[in-house]
Amino acid sequence: MRVLRRGDGGPAVAEVRSTLAALGLLPPVNGILDQFDQAMEHAVRAFQQQRGLITDGLVGPATYRALRDATYQLGGRPLAYLVSAPITGDDVVTLQERLLELGYDAGRPNGVFGAQTEAALRNFQRDYGLTVDGICGPETIRALRQLSPRARGGRPVLLREQERVRRSGPRLTGKRIVIDPGHGGGDTGISVDGVNESDLMWDLARRLEGRMVATGMEALLSRGPDQCPDEATRAQFANEAGADLVLSLHSDGNRSPFAQGVASFHFGTGNGNTSTLGEAMAGLIQRELAKRTGLRDCHTHPRTWELLRLTRCPAVRIEIGYLTNDEDRHRLTDPAFRDVVAEGIVVAVKRLYLLGENDQPTGSFTFADVLAHELAKAE
Ligand SMILES: [Zn+2]
Repeated sequence: MRVLRRGDGGPAVAEVRSTLAALGLLPPVNGILDQFDQAMEHAVRAFQQQRGLITDGLVGPATYRALRDATYQLGGRPLAYLVSAPITGDDVVTLQERLLELGYDAGRPNGVFGAQTEAALRNFQRDYGLTVDGICGPETIRALRQLSPRARGGRPVLLREQERVRRSGPRLTGKRIVIDPGHGGGDTGISVDGVNESDLMWDLARRLEGRMVATGMEALLSRGPDQCPDEATRAQFANEAGADLVLSLHSDGNRSPFAQGVASFHFGTGNGNTSTLGEAMAGLIQRELAKRTGLRDCHTHPRTWELLRLTRCPAVRIEIGYLTNDEDRHRLTDPAFRDVVAEGIVVAVKRLYLLGENDQPTGSFTFADVLAHELAKAE
């Protein structure tokens, strides 16, 4: 498709406008209905921010797909497993969440109707005396609406994820970590006074990679120095690599020069479905970085961003400082500071795989300790 931008007009623009209006991001009647004006650009940016897409105000393939997905509500169309072209959309997320709440293992609620969602749906249909066809049609929708969700807390899929890590033991050796430096190529991310987020995160990724490899982990980078794959491609790379963990590195920016600090994000819908391990990993990273770097602690948060949603292993996105804040930017441009950040992240990863066995207080465990620990085990 053609990329739509401010100044464009025509039926494709009109379609996107009506979608944005349906999502409540544009007033129903506003401006000329087939013109990509300033109000529409604001609405596109707001939508991109909500969905964790690159906030550029342009409607390209990724934004267009996300807009289309956002318009589907459960019950609006039949859902089924189409092997060659799986159905995606917010209605699939709702279905997966409902099935999970009812105790059926639909997999991580990622908005893609796959084999596991179908199996869960069939089990549900069997248990509730419905036609077992794996199709979410009117009869199944009615049944889902009538049932009140069982008490939450089981979250079987997410607990299973935790169990897999427990079984694989506390060793770092053999763990495969995908390091995902944000942006790249023509997309610099936040850029202030010639300091680019994409360059800083590339450099940080290399520092992190070196330390991880030294402690016996396998570290893979999701992109080259001059590439910017979209979020779905990055997730696919991690899935195909069979990653144990994905760490996505970003810096933030804000209209206010006073906004500053570090925050970590993990997969979660905000209504109880959270990646247990993603949340644990985000918490460990957040603690280490807040303690070691002096950056303001902006805490951990659940998000359904594409990369977090589409990766099959725990994934954490870290927003390290605000480049729009003078203090944070000066810190980040210092290579020694980036070493501190890399060390904090490696120690946090080690703590994740120790799962509670750790006895060293936050901020005191050093890279040398991690290395010694691994070497002692290797003997
Ligand atoms: Zn970024």
